[in-house]
Amino acid sequence: MSFYGMKEEQIREYARLVVRTGVNVQQGQYVVVNCPAEHYEFGRLVIEEAYEAGAKEVVMRWGDSVEMRQYYLHASDETLAEFPQWKADSLNYYSRQGAGWISIGGSDPEALKGVNPMKMRIRQAASEKATEEHSKRLMASEIPWTVAAVPQKQWAKKVFPDLPEEEAMASLWKLILQAVRIGNGDAVAAWADHDSFLKKKCKMLNDHAFVKLHYENSIGTDFTVGLVRGHIWEGGSETAGTGTVFEANMPTEEIFTMPDCRVAEGTLVSALPLSYRGNLIRNFRLTFHEGQVVDYSAEEGYETLKSLIDTDEGSKRLGEVALVPYSSPISQMKTLFYNTLFDENASCHFALGECYPTTIRGGAKMSEEELKAAGGNATSMNHVDFMVGTADLKITGIHEDGSEVVLFENGDWAGV
Ligand code: ZN
Ligand code: ZN
Repeated sequence: MSFYGMKEEQIREYARLVVRTGVNVQQGQYVVVNCPAEHYEFGRLVIEEAYEAGAKEVVMRWGDSVEMRQYYLHASDETLAEFPQWKADSLNYYSRQGAGWISIGGSDPEALKGVNPMKMRIRQAASEKATEEHSKRLMASEIPWTVAAVPQKQWAKKVFPDLPEEEAMASLWKLILQAVRIGNGDAVAAWADHDSFLKKKCKMLNDHAFVKLHYENSIGTDFTVGLVRGHIWEGGSETAGTGTVFEANMPTEEIFTMPDCRVAEGTLVSALPLSYRGNLIRNFRLTFHEGQVVDYSAEEGYETLKSLIDTDEGSKRLGEVALVPYSSPISQMKTLFYNTLFDENASCHFALGECYPTTIRGGAKMSEEELKAAGGNATSMNHVDFMVGTADLKITGIHEDGSEVVLFENGDWAGV
């Protein structure tokens, strides 16, 4: 097998980690794997490990971005709008059986460049409608699921444009293995430790029930954000309806909650470039008043930033507050991955746009109106993370009575 000089044992350990810690395959369980065809070698390791862990059957859904591109370029709107029932039935069936779902990512970031976005929307709407039963289960984490990524040539070239292909692939493999904590003893145990650390921080913050957080650093961030009443800090593992504990994202470093989208004052300065719709926005700042972006600038990509903010009302407001220590592994890599799975775990961030209903008590059952009334950013086409964490970031939690607790100092947890 060719894993660009990586030890096959480590790659197998990664596949095992995805199976055991990621989706946590149980005895007699169906396992469905979405795997790009070009990652067949890794996909086969996942198959072996899933059976080894007791899977009843491993159902492979091989995909191909080249095929997708051709499909979008040539299929008529009618064809795109007609999602075959048998395909939907198959997803809904395995979902109903409590299958574990593994998605292996890592594709050409420009695979669908030039495809009319309208075409994708038609297809997406049709598939969402037909597979609603399945996606509802996934969204509510009723069934275990996980997303992990392996290097792909065009992706590696984008991350390391100055390296020849082989070296770029090897470099990306190294970073990914490091990010998922492989290569330093028992990875499954390392994940258990990491998860209990994240859980401890969530509990601490949930107990504090801060009403506001204040951010400041030397590059110009001086910003206060409100948190909704009854907000919940989440991060790390989740528990499926079946009782199985799983990790939806590998890697994962963030803990996150719901901001009150009506309360944000001051200026946030970006710490890393933001890649939005294939364009880079660099060194930008956003100024908020009463929860809304009222002024902004960017050294590069101003028009892209403008189109993001002007998308809809919700895109001018925040939908996520996330904490990631500056000392965390991905942060230390100082690499732009052009892939949310990695980039959002690189630094403290916020998202412009829609909130996660699970990050407020009772949120999963709230109507859009109720969520809005609670301060949630309930309706936006966007949810775009942007990074603000620097080596000198200070974050202070503010209680309802005005008392304060320093949470982050010098970019890292301040012993709380
Ligand atoms: Zn996040
Ligand atoms: Zn996010």
